[in-house]
Amino acid sequence: MSSALPNFLPFTRPTIDEETIAAVGDVLRSGWITSGPKALEFEDALSALFGGRPVRAFNSGTITLEIALQLAGVGPGDEVITTPLSWVSTANVVLHLGARPVFVDTDPHTRNIDLERIEAAITPRTKAIIPVDLAGLPVDRDRLYAIARRHQLRVVEDAAQSLGASWNGRPIGSTGDFVSFSFHANKNLTTCEGGALVLPDDISPALCERLRLQGVQRLDGGEIEVEVAGHKGNLTDVAAAVGLGQLKHLDAFTARRRALARRYFERLDPTLGLGLPPADFVNSNWHMFQVLLPLDRMRMSRADFIAHLRERNIGAGVHYPAMHLFALYRGLGYREGNFPIAERISRSTLTLPLFPAMQDADVDAVCANIADLLRNAAQ
Ligand SMILES: *Cc1c(COP(=O)(O)O)cnc(C)c1O
Repeated sequence: MSSALPNFLPFTRPTIDEETIAAVGDVLRSGWITSGPKALEFEDALSALFGGRPVRAFNSGTITLEIALQLAGVGPGDEVITTPLSWVSTANVVLHLGARPVFVDTDPHTRNIDLERIEAAITPRTKAIIPVDLAGLPVDRDRLYAIARRHQLRVVEDAAQSLGASWNGRPIGSTGDFVSFSFHANKNLTTCEGGALVLPDDISPALCERLRLQGVQRLDGGEIEVEVAGHKGNLTDVAAAVGLGQLKHLDAFTARRRALARRYFERLDPTLGLGLPPADFVNSNWHMFQVLLPLDRMRMSRADFIAHLRERNIGAGVHYPAMHLFALYRGLGYREGNFPIAERISRSTLTLPLFPAMQDADVDAVCANIADLLRNAAQ
C-alpha cells in the first residue's frame, strides 16, 4: 500500500517569483495601474518570441478568441469548425458572434481535432477553423493549413494551452493565421487572467485595438469617434507585470514540464491499462499530463477514483467534458453518439499533477498511488 502525500499536491499551481511580486508592487505604487507602459512592454516581449509579428494583449483568452473571430470576418449565419474536446469558451465565442460551432470528432491518438474529418464538415457557410492544441500538443499545422488554403478558410488557432510548444522547430505563434493565447492562472504562463493575439499581415492592429476597447478610435486633434460596439478587453499593467516576470522563466518552465512528463512515462506501470498521451518531447509543452482510465477493468467510477486520490492528498482534474453534450449545445441539436471518440476520451480522461515546481519524487508518489488504487479497483 502506497502512502498518502504529507501535503496536498494540486494538479497545477503557478510559479511566481519574488522579483515579479516586487514588480507588481512597483506598478501599484506608480499611479498608473490599468493598461499603460507595462502592457505595451509585455506585447513587445511576446512579439519578440513570435519573430516580430504584431501582438495585442487582452484581459482573457476568451475575449482574445472572440475578437480574433470577429477580425476573421465571422458573423451571424456563419459556421466555424472546431473540436468537442476543449474548454467551453472555444465554442461559446462562436455563439456570441451569432455563428454556429460545427464539431468534428477527435483523433484517438493525439486527442486533437481529427484532420481526416474536417473536409466532410465544410459547407458553403464555413468561415473558419479553430484548432485547439489540447494539453499543449500541437495540431499538425502543415495538414491543417493545407485544408484551410484549399477551402479558403481562416484559421484562429486556440493556442491557449500551447505557449512554448512548437511545430517544425518554430514556436507556436510565430507562424500561421490568427494565434490566440490565454494567461489564465492554470496556463503555462500566467497574468492571473489574460490573453494575447498574434495578428496576421492582412489585419490592422489599430482595428484590433478598437475592438478591444469599446470601438474607440482616436482622431487627430484629440477627438474620439465610435463606429462599432467594441469590447472591454484591455489587459492591466498589474497583470502585464506578472506576465513579464513569467516570460523570463518560460523556457525553463517548458523544459521542466517535459522532464516531469518523461518521468511519468518511466514510472507509470504499463500493465495497468492506462491510455497514455503521445510521447512527444519536441513539440508539446506538456501543459497537462492526461491518462485515460481503464474504466472497463475498474470497479469504481472516475469520480470515486478522483476522490480516492484526494484522500491520498493528490489532486486530479477532468479536461474536458465533451462540449457538444452540454445542455447549451444539445439545444443546437448535438447528441450523445455524434462524436464517439471524443466521448470515449472525455469519459475516461484524468489530468495528473504537473507544474514546474513539482518534484521528481511527487511524480513517483502519484504513480505509486495510481498503481495501488488500480490494483485494488481491478475486477
Ligand atoms: C483556458 C482556455 C481558454 C480560455 O481562456 P481564458 O483566459 O480562461 O478566457 C480557451 N481555450 C482553451 C483551450 C483554454 O484552455
